[in-house]
Amino acid sequence: MSDRAPQPVERQLPTEESRDLIALVRDIAQREIAPRAAEEEDAGRFPREIFSLLSESGLLGLPYDSEYGGGDQPYEVYLQVLEELAAARLTVGLGVSVHSLSCHALAGYGSKEQQTEHLPAMLGGGLLGAYCLSEPASGSDAASLRTKAVRDGDDWVITGAKAWITHGGVADFYTVMARTGQEGARGITAFLVPGDAPGLSAGAPEKKMGMKGSPTALVNFDGVRIPDTRRIGEEGQGFSIALSALDSGRLGIAACAVGVAQAALDEAVSYATGRQQFGRPIADFQGLRFMLADMATRIEAGRALYLTAARRRDAGLPFSQQAAMAKLFCTDAAMSVTTDAVQVLGGYGYTQDFPVERLMREAKVLQIVEGTNQIQRMVIARHLAGPESR
Ligand SMILES: Cc1cc2nc3c(=O)[nH]c(=O)nc-3n(C[C@H](O)[C@H](O)[C@H](O)COP(=O)(O)OP(=O)(O)OC[C@H]3O[C@@H](n4cnc5c(N)ncnc54)[C@H](O)[C@@H]3O)c2cc1C
Repeated sequence: MSDRAPQPVERQLPTEESRDLIALVRDIAQREIAPRAAEEEDAGRFPREIFSLLSESGLLGLPYDSEYGGGDQPYEVYLQVLEELAAARLTVGLGVSVHSLSCHALAGYGSKEQQTEHLPAMLGGGLLGAYCLSEPASGSDAASLRTKAVRDGDDWVITGAKAWITHGGVADFYTVMARTGQEGARGITAFLVPGDAPGLSAGAPEKKMGMKGSPTALVNFDGVRIPDTRRIGEEGQGFSIALSALDSGRLGIAACAVGVAQAALDEAVSYATGRQQFGRPIADFQGLRFMLADMATRIEAGRALYLTAARRRDAGLPFSQQAAMAKLFCTDAAMSVTTDAVQVLGGYGYTQDFPVERLMREAKVLQIVEGTNQIQRMVIARHLAGPESR
């Protein structure tokens, strides 16, 4: 529509290697991911082959140790890769983020033997992971989960149901938090469950508002038996493992949100500079120019916030508070920017002829997953004022 084609984001990257990596990701995004995004999202088709391609290209284990098949990349780089993937298609960007989340427990808390046995296939061997914390009756209050793992000799038998599981039914492995002891956070243990374990089954994918290509399903554990060698960390350590994974995962969601917002801004600028009303491009009108300026400012602020948190993580500094801030700010920014993008396109913005309505529907889920934005505010406030008194 316009002669002003969007320019790629000029990124500050630490090394030549990371610049090559972003160039590779852009190439895959433009050739393989973006052209099919609208049609496949509409049809609710999960692009499993894209994840195989990303794995072959070394893009499914980027922030992990190369000793086990990872890419040895700092979070500062990994998150910008996620941003590029999410701008092309959120199902892919968020899928890679969830896969990383599901590898976190084993990579951070597994024994050397467990890591040697399982991590290479998870990080670079084509496998896809899922992370199972939420349940039908426990979402924000995740520590009240009820799925049980009961010791039976050298095995554990897992019974219960996990809700809202991204990649539920298509994943090759499931990182599962289950109750092995007392009520509350200290009675939870983490397990690595293979996707083909007898007794594990997934329900039909949820019919969602957006991100329809990403399967989200209830996963049932009906007496799933796994050996103790698949327990990760100590008994009772599972909840703190789960929260540690979420600190990093929230940075992934923040980066995905910035990608979705950037895609919407690019569409809005392109449309506004081409569409004529009153004999001039609508981008001439100050009312729209100021909207575009505010959208771009929110995106740049979000990117700066997630990169600040990432650089703290890379430097070994505490980053939990900054990760919650980045998730909160970037996902709210994505909701606001995508809503404004629909407005810039007027009636056309409300149709499926342009991607902005899809981006707006996709932005909404980012305010909910991996801790709703109310929960992020609780996390930030705890850092400021300490735990709530009852
Ligand atoms: C598409 C999608 C994919 C997902 N993928 C995964 C996954 O892969 N793995 C996984 O484990 N989970 C996953 N989830 C689950 C997600 O993390 C939960 O939906 C989320 O944590 C909220 O839980 P809930 O839906 O049960 O809402 P609830 O906890 O019931 O919350 C309902 C509302 O109450 C608010 N609320 C709750 N408690 C408080 C409080 N103390 N103060 C203020 N407000 C509060 C919430 O913010 C929310 O607005 C996914 C969800 C979706 C929609």
